[in-house]
Amino acid sequence: MKGRDGCPRCQGAGYVIEPEGDRAVARLCTCLPVCPRCHGSGRVTVVRGGVPLTGRCRCQQLPDRIEHWHFAQVPARHAQATLHGFFAGTFQHDDPVKRRALLEGVNPWLEAFDPARRDNRGLVLHGPVGRGKTHLLVGILRELVFAHGVVVRFVEFSRLLGQLKERYSRGQGDTQLLGELAEVPVLAIDELGKGRVTDWELAIIDEVISRRYNAMRTTLATTNYAPRVASGIRDVNLAVVDESPQTLGDRVGDRVFSRLREMCSFVEVGGLDMRPLLG
Ligand SMILES: [Zn+2]
Ligand SMILES: [Zn+2]
Repeated sequence: MKGRDGCPRCQGAGYVIEPEGDRAVARLCTCLPVCPRCHGSGRVTVVRGGVPLTGRCRCQQLPDRIEHWHFAQVPARHAQATLHGFFAGTFQHDDPVKRRALLEGVNPWLEAFDPARRDNRGLVLHGPVGRGKTHLLVGILRELVFAHGVVVRFVEFSRLLGQLKERYSRGQGDTQLLGELAEVPVLAIDELGKGRVTDWELAIIDEVISRRYNAMRTTLATTNYAPRVASGIRDVNLAVVDESPQTLGDRVGDRVFSRLREMCSFVEVGGLDMRPLLG
């Protein structure tokens, strides 16, 4: 009999992620055998000291993580994004800059991430467009969800602001959405600072980041804007991104930016433009 590791669909992971509608949808792979402990019911009964105790079977861990994945709301176009795929693409193109971002930036950060703590450091991936920052971000989320069972949420910065603005304009101040974003254990903001950001939008982003800062929650982000560097200090982050003279601080405001600097490690993702390969 062919083992799960030989499964061509999931490569032994037990789940697959595919685009469906506008979301990247996860489901159990068909190679999973019926659980011998609970026979698929998800509940097991054990007798301790003569007392029968019924609880969830440990085979339910993967379905629980699939639920977490759906809570994350990752868009369909990133369904195939994995760290392994980023790694493979980087090697295929012999791209030392990108390899360094992964090996010296992202991997050590993931290793240091402790799912049992709530005050893990965040991560900001910055660099020019088309270098695979979003791919890397989604790969990280996938790892956090499926390897560690962490509850995460993905938001596209401009889409989020659009949603909030629409609800406010209809007279429905969205405290529920803001509360969710403030409280989710890991929030991943894609394209932070993109587009024309109004004062009202800055105030919203400031509220989300401030609440996360105070609650010591982990925030991840990608941005096309370079971090601002304190005057007089030489820093590896002092890179000019595209032709844009604006920094991340210019885009999101001093307060948000200085909180991000306290909460997050900054990793530059440069190297080759891989858009045709890594959506
Ligand atoms: Zn499979
Ligand atoms: Zn079971």
